[in-house]
This record gives sequence, structure tokens and C-alpha cells, in this order.
Amino acid sequence: MTSDASSRKVALVVGGSRGIGRAIVVRLARSGFDIWCTYRGNHEAAEEVRKEVETLGVSCDLIPFDVSDYEAVRAALAPRVEETSPYALVYNAGITRDNLLMWMSPDEWNAVLRTNLDGFFNVTRAVLFSMLKARKGRIVAISSASGQLGQAGQVNYAASKAGLIGAARSLAREVGKKNIVVNVVAPGFIETELTHEIPAEKVLPLVPLNRLGRAEDVASLVNFLCTEEHLYIHGQTIGVNGGLAV
Ligand code: NDP
Repeated sequence: MTSDASSRKVALVVGGSRGIGRAIVVRLARSGFDIWCTYRGNHEAAEEVRKEVETLGVSCDLIPFDVSDYEAVRAALAPRVEETSPYALVYNAGITRDNLLMWMSPDEWNAVLRTNLDGFFNVTRAVLFSMLKARKGRIVAISSASGQLGQAGQVNYAASKAGLIGAARSLAREVGKKNIVVNVVAPGFIETELTHEIPAEKVLPLVPLNRLGRAEDVASLVNFLCTEEHLYIHGQTIGVNGGLAV
């Protein structure tokens, strides 16, 4: 990508301060994107990302808000998108509140659905009009193998991640003609804080590549979907799972 400031592209990475989101931010910054990195409340982690991104010669705006709060999302993003339309939107924010459905509380159900699925609506709703006006862009939603396969103890999480797949497919049908390409990336077991309590010896027998994934494995595909010029992949869900779901 060119370094001319007037033609630089912005990537909005939602939940970009830690784990997979951070790797996505760094990968897109390496590709030359200026970054808008959102997060909820861990300012220290976000500042670290900003420092790393700035060493790569692009800018990094930190934008804290709770994705589940429609008004807060709008207030944070609406003034920005009036000035600049992001070229890429990566919806990566996600949480788990695992429990068997038998014991799952309404709070556990609601927290996960509000963050993982409502958040996608709230953020995309806030920026889509500017992308449609620009008549170009890439949207990538980070789902999960749990949303494709189901997972005991994750009825809430799997529902939210399967919901993202349906939402992104439908959005792809709405905005494809406007040159906005929409896809879903569905990671399997990736080494992050979200998964550090899962014992590797239980997981590895299920993974033909015989290793856990790395955040960079996910970031590399997201980067491809956001930068590749010759892209005819649209409305698809692509697994990054070492063969877990083949
Ligand atoms: P992390 O917990 O490491 O990071 C989550 C990011 O989302 C942080 O930036 C966090 O900000 C932000 N975030 C969480 N909740 C909110 C909220 N309500 N409002 C705004 N921002 C929020 O997650 P991972 O890197 O492990 O996972 C990233 C994505 O990948 C998630 O969607 C997850 O479901 C998915 N995934 C992960 C897998 C894995 O193995 N790790 C496997 C499959 C999918 P802050 O730090 O400020 O709270």
C-alpha cells in the first residue's frame, strides 16, 4: 500500500487490544493500514498495541467503548466516519461464559449474545453507510469453530458465533453490489487468554495438524481478505483450525 497520507486506508479492528485482535492489528499495520483499534477497558494493553503499531510507521487511534451498547458505539464512531470511511472492518470482539445449558444463567446467555452478536450489528450499523458511500471495503467477522460444530458448555457462545455467520452471509447479499466484500473467519483452538485453561493433551488428538493455532495464523487470513486485490471470495466462512473441522 502506498504511504501517501491522502490515499492511506483505515482498518477498524474491533477488540484489537489483545490476543487474536492484537495480531490482526499488527498484521494490517504491516500491510500499511492506519489503525482504529477499539477495546472495552484494558487501557494498558491498548497502549502497548499503539506503541507497537507506531513503530511500523502507521497511525493507531485507540477507541474504547462497550460493543454491546448501541448508543456508545454510535457516539464513538459516527463523528469519525463522517470524516473518514474505514476500508476494512474486522469484528473480533468476543467473550465466553461457558456453562451447561442446564445451569446457564440469563446473565451468561445475555452477556455473550450482546457482546458477540449484538456488537456486530451495533458496529456495522455505525460504519456501513460511510462504506456504502465510498463504494468499497472489506468486512471480516471473527466467528469460531464452535459456531460451526457446536460445543458442549457453549450453547450461548456457539449460538452467537453461528449467528455471526448468518448475519455476515446476509450482509454479503446486501452489499456485494456496492463492492463491499464480506467474509467470516472461524478459528479453532488458538493459544490466547481465552483458551489458556484448556489442556493441550485433550485438544491435540482432535487436530490433524497436531498443534494449537497461533493468533498470527488467524491474522494472516484476515490480512489476505482485507488486502488481496483479486478477491472473488464473498459470503464465505473460512476455518483456521488445523483440520479440526474437515
Ligand atoms: P481476548 O479475550 O484475548 O480479546 C478480546 C478483545 O475483545 C479485547 O480487545 C477486549 O477488550 C475486546 N472486548 C471484549 N468484550 C468487549 C466489549 N463488550 N466491548 C468492547 N470490546 C470488547 O480474545 P481472543 O483474542 O481469544 O479472541 C478474539 C476473537 O476470536 C473472539 O471473538 C473469540 O470468540 C474468537 N475466537 C477465539 C478462539 C481462541 O481459541 N482464542 C477460538 C475461536 C474464536 P478489553 O481487553 O478492553 O476487554
